[in-house]
Amino acid sequence: MKKIEDFPRIPLAVLPTPIQKLENISRILGTNVYIKRDDMTGIGLGGNKVRKLEFLLADAKNKGAEIVFTTGGAQSNHAMLTAACCKKLGMTPILILKKRGVTDRKGNILLEYLMNTDVRFLDTDDSADVYREMDRVGQESGKVYYKIPTGGSNALGALGYVNCVKEISEQTDIKFDYICCAEGSGGTHAGVAMGAKLFMPETKVIGMMVDTDPFEEITTNIMKGLAELLELDFVPTVDDVHLVDVCGAGYAIPSPEGNEAIRMMAENEGLFLDPVYTGKAFGGLIQMAREGKFGPDDNILYLYSGGAGGLFAIDVSLD
Ligand SMILES: *Cc1c(COP(=O)(O)O)cnc(C)c1O
Repeated sequence: MKKIEDFPRIPLAVLPTPIQKLENISRILGTNVYIKRDDMTGIGLGGNKVRKLEFLLADAKNKGAEIVFTTGGAQSNHAMLTAACCKKLGMTPILILKKRGVTDRKGNILLEYLMNTDVRFLDTDDSADVYREMDRVGQESGKVYYKIPTGGSNALGALGYVNCVKEISEQTDIKFDYICCAEGSGGTHAGVAMGAKLFMPETKVIGMMVDTDPFEEITTNIMKGLAELLELDFVPTVDDVHLVDVCGAGYAIPSPEGNEAIRMMAENEGLFLDPVYTGKAFGGLIQMAREGKFGPDDNILYLYSGGAGGLFAIDVSLD
């Protein structure tokens, strides 16, 4: 097996991020709910993509890239954080975003504007169009360029979340029965699931799907990529992937359950979940608690993956 330390990594995040107990919500839900503060990764508005970018941008640098492309929806947190990390490292980010969602100068688009980022919209649902445009712009520049996929969700990016579980296992003696996280492009869940296999084998990992993609396959494939990267004997299968559907009406469309979760977290803990990812994911955790899936002595770790930018772009109506 290769060690995570064997892979080049640029330390962009402030680590370890804290783990805190949500005392009030634990009382309300009748189980022990802890939160891993990956909203505090220390650049941009924080969030999960920074851990992936530590590995992806190290790879880009090693390959001599001056330009870094990535993509996502208009309000992509990943695109915003890629821009922030590239600016810090002196690389040029170019964001080729799908013209889907809120494209006004609000939320993450505002933050990209403040960072003086090259943002371009492409009116397409097909990722192949986006990657073709990246190659066109990249070749025209005559510079070395690097393409990061949606959400940074390839095996190298997901290594950031294998690293996160290693960090959790070293930072606390608490035995977690479950780790719950949002699942949007799959890299976070795949990394956490693989990390748990390696460092916290007693812990069950659950991905809360906020989109309608075939996540069983997507997550398994990223896990297989991780197993190859880390030169493990273990071959991941769909049985290693546990999913709950919290998407509701569609990606980035607020759901009643997600909105209830945003309110519960704000009102009881003074923390702000977002309508696209973390609110819906925490809504799934609340639902599981209400269905009696967690015992009173269980310890649940909720991965708070950031996303604050979305709160300032997407209308969350709580009444
Ligand atoms: C991207 C994102 C996720 C989902 O992570 P994936 O690795 O894309 O599945 C969760 N929360 C927030 C805030 C995100 O920006």
